[in-house]
Amino acid sequence: MSSLLVEDIGLLVHGDRSMAPIRDTTLLIEDGLIAAIGTGGDDADGVLSANGLTVMPGLVDGHVHPTFGEWTPAQNAVGWIHNYLHGGTTSMVSAGELHIPGLAFDALTPELVLSIAITSKHTTGRMRPSGVKVDAGTVLLVPGMTEEHFDRAHREGIDQLKFIFYDWNRLGDGEAQRYVRWAHERRMTVKMHSGGVSRSGSSRVAGADVVMAVRPDVVGHISGGPIPPPDSDIKAIIAGLPDTYVEVCSSNNYRATTVVVDELTRHGRLDRLTLGTDTPGGTGVIPRGMLRNVCFIASVCGMDPVSAVAAATGQTARAHGLRTGVIAEGMPADLLVLGPITGSTATDALECFALGDLPGIASVLVDGVPLVATRSEQTPPPSRSVTWRGAVRRREQNRPTPAGAHASGCC
Ligand SMILES: [Zn+2]
Repeated sequence: MSSLLVEDIGLLVHGDRSMAPIRDTTLLIEDGLIAAIGTGGDDADGVLSANGLTVMPGLVDGHVHPTFGEWTPAQNAVGWIHNYLHGGTTSMVSAGELHIPGLAFDALTPELVLSIAITSKHTTGRMRPSGVKVDAGTVLLVPGMTEEHFDRAHREGIDQLKFIFYDWNRLGDGEAQRYVRWAHERRMTVKMHSGGVSRSGSSRVAGADVVMAVRPDVVGHISGGPIPPPDSDIKAIIAGLPDTYVEVCSSNNYRATTVVVDELTRHGRLDRLTLGTDTPGGTGVIPRGMLRNVCFIASVCGMDPVSAVAAATGQTARAHGLRTGVIAEGMPADLLVLGPITGSTATDALECFALGDLPGIASVLVDGVPLVATRSEQTPPPSRSVTWRGAVRRREQNRPTPAGAHASGCC
């Protein structure tokens, strides 16, 4: 067994808005899992002193568009997942591998979309690029699929499905609703592109009439990706589908996001908010996108920062069926150590978010393994430095880690 004690934590934020943050505490990690908060660890193999900084769950980007590995033709870039890790993202969920060059969105067949998803699941979804947990292999739902297609996807470990190119002229024939039922019978999550046409030019407009008829689990980028449904539709969806998660992405219309947060607040349902970047894509490659989302909803939309962190971590994980995003005993130790950057008037990361000041990241851990040890390549450093002592498990460089296995290397 390997163990790591995180000590001198100035503030611990759980990623669950029902749990109050804890000041001046410790965190014990054993074999990559959170073993205890506030107790134990005297004989831990290694020690990370957070030096008064904030510890919170790693960010969960609920909406990314991988292609293969860390390559994205959307912005002619490689290495984007490494950069997102340094922006604090430890898990991400594919909203469809739709940037594959040459893919004709108007000629998608059930066999083709299933083949793409299976290939993605067994390549990008297997290798953990740069150590990030990537839930890749998302089926782009098209007309004509049978229950056998859903069985095959389920057998291959696929757990995410997405409506984006589906022909909503056939809404009355019951097929889309049947897909949602088949998905739920196999514990899969269904996301729907909402609002106007995307960069592809081929996605289908989906307003309240479509969303409320199909009842997906997650209403994708409800405040714009980039064009949101009309305000009246946003309000109708939030009021009419009380069990549905709604997603805000970096591709958003900022004004519409204030409407979403206001409506969720009015209904007392901020627990339904999930966050993503909807990148790489037309919005770009934005390693600090998730941090900026939290800053925006906390500082401009008026959401309390504990809830904003929960939206970016535990809630987004739960909405997509991922086991991460919350600091609690037994959960994977996917963590950030972060705090105010020199020059900010904030005293901890929550104050940073409330002010809209980007916090600086010192460390990023996935399954208890430091993938960023003392300083992010993508944020300025926090004003305090962390220190490491003793034996620390490390991930071997340039070796992809099989999904589901602990990172290799030790001591
Ligand atoms: Zn998208």
